[in-house]
Formats: sequence, structure tokens, C-alpha cells
Amino acid sequence: MNVFFVRDCVNPDDAVYIDGQWYCTLGSCYAAACGEVTVPENLSEPCFDCEDDGTNCIEFGGVTDETSALSQAVHFTLFVGSLSSQCGEGLIAYASACYIDDITDRPLAGFMNICPFGLNLDRERLLSTVQHEIFHALGFSHSLYALYRDEDGNPLTPREANGYPPVDPVSGLFLWSSRVIQELTLDWDYVGGTTQRTVQALVTPNIVREARAHFGCPTLMGLEIEDGGGAGTALAHFEKRIMATESMNGYLTPTRVFSRMTLALMEDTGWYIPDYEMADIMNWGKDLGCDFVQKSCKNWIDQKTNAGLSIAPWCNVPFETTCHAEGVDVAYCSFYQYFNGVPTIYQDMNQMYNALFEALVT
Ligand SMILES: [Zn+2]
Repeated sequence: MNVFFVRDCVNPDDAVYIDGQWYCTLGSCYAAACGEVTVPENLSEPCFDCEDDGTNCIEFGGVTDETSALSQAVHFTLFVGSLSSQCGEGLIAYASACYIDDITDRPLAGFMNICPFGLNLDRERLLSTVQHEIFHALGFSHSLYALYRDEDGNPLTPREANGYPPVDPVSGLFLWSSRVIQELTLDWDYVGGTTQRTVQALVTPNIVREARAHFGCPTLMGLEIEDGGGAGTALAHFEKRIMATESMNGYLTPTRVFSRMTLALMEDTGWYIPDYEMADIMNWGKDLGCDFVQKSCKNWIDQKTNAGLSIAPWCNVPFETTCHAEGVDVAYCSFYQYFNGVPTIYQDMNQMYNALFEALVT
């Protein structure tokens, strides 16, 4: 099933309602858009234009019977652009759904923008970025969490009278329920001692099953999502500390994988049935237990150091080369010097994970 995009008038005041049909005054019919991408004629509703007084109405452009018939087999339409409008500050690409199904809420169309300089990435990283963005457009998005459904197709977040979840007046996002995301409280070691830190975690059933199995932590209540990186990155990705090599974290790093946890999240949307055989193997955090996934890096490093064990996958020898955690690359222990101060609770992290190149991928 495909969608045909409804056009708006350039100026809302140009809209006139005649005999059950909205028209634009002559010449003011607007090209439909998905994100920043202009929708082609064959995926748009026709233009309906009239004179100011409602006479001489004409219908033109838009979908034809032929294109309509062709589109019946299309399950998802992705519009791709390379515009610089929202790019900058290390942003490489972004994507979102732009049209959802009336009945199931499943995204029927989405857009992806690869920032022009992102096209200079090497092929492997560009491909990984494109794949990452497709997952966002299909459902891995904080604008869609509140629309996720259970395996029977029932909404996980209660709906209001208009059929949609409540909207957060500040962010404009649908507010999700605790069946999708919950706050977890972690005991958090840092240079000043131990504090309690509240994080947001995905708690849907498939992701919890896969995260427990991956980290070897049967009591894990949810999979932490990113809290850093600003509006496009925070909440919309897996937490990089525990998912450093996962492609659905918010930072472009070399040698990335799409793990079973990404596929599990797609299953937890209620819109897809993934083939877990297609998942990449992820070594980062594999079988490292509850402390790795629920406590700070400092806790891990101190524990291992005190026991005379390797602190891998973390490191503390600047620029030492080592095997990449995924075992298919050489990595080095990357240290950053922050001159503006690191928030106190993160002052365990002078031992930074190796990263040859990082940039924001929202
Ligand atoms: Zn992203």
C-alpha cells in the first residue's frame, strides 16, 4: 500500500472549501513534502485550484491511475536528499518517518538527509550511515516510541480521544508510556565517590530479552538509551557506553554492527518481524555481566584493576594500539583533553573508548 501526499496551499488563507473539497486559490497549490524533500508528482494528490470566488476550479498534476496501480505493492517509500539546511556541527545525516498508517501507525514513508559533506565518507561508513538512517525512518525514533504496539497490535501507550497519545508541549513529541521506556536508577561510581544516576531505558519485551542475553545480566530491567548529544541524538539511540560498536548508537565510529538488539527493537515496534539470523555478532559488552551494563566505567575499571585483570573493553594507556572490540580492525586508545570541564559524574572517563573518528549521526 502506498500513500499519496496531500498538498497544502502555500498560504493557509488561500484554502477554500467547496462542495466537500478543499481547494487552493489559483496558483497557490503547494508541492507536497516529506521532511525537506519535495514529493514527486506521481506520489502526490492532484492540485485543486479555483479562482478566489470559487469559480473555474481545475484539477491537475498528481497521481494518475497508472501510477496509483503501480504503487499498490509498495510497503514503504523513502525519500533521500542531500541538503545542507540542518547540517553543521558534526552532523552527518538524519532521518524520520513522515507519514504513518491510519490504522496501525506504521511508517509508510520517511525521508533521509545525508549532509553534503557526509557523502565524502568512505563507502563502508556511508553505507553504515544510510542503514542507520533507514532504521530511524522505519521506527527507531523518539517521535515514534509512543506509537509502538504489542504483539497483538494493541497500543503500548494509551490513546486520547483523537486516537493519538498525549503530546509533550515542550518537545512536541508524543509522550510514551512506561511500557516502552522507564527510568532506571544506577549506582554510579565517579571520582567523588558513588551517587545514584537516573537513566532512561527501553523496556519492551524483545529488547529486554536480547539485552539480558547479550550482556549476561538476567536481572536487567531495560536497555539504556543515549542521554548525550543534544536533541537529535539523545533518547533516539542506544547508550554508547554500553553499545559502543552498535550502529544504532548516536556516533559514527568505525567497524559498526547491527546487533540482535536493533532487530529486537524493530520487533517491539509491533510493525515488523525480524529475521534474527541476519543480525551481526556484537562483541562489545558480550557476557560481561550486570556491572558492565548497569554501572559506570570507573566501577568496571577499578574492579578489574583491583583483581589484576584486563580492563578491556576500556583502556587507560593513551594511544596504545590494540585489537578492536569487534576483532576485525586495529583500534587505539583515544584520549581527549576537555578544557571546559567534564560533568562531575562523568569524571571516571579519562579512559575513553578507542575512536578513530567520531561525529554525530542522528
Ligand atoms: Zn541516528
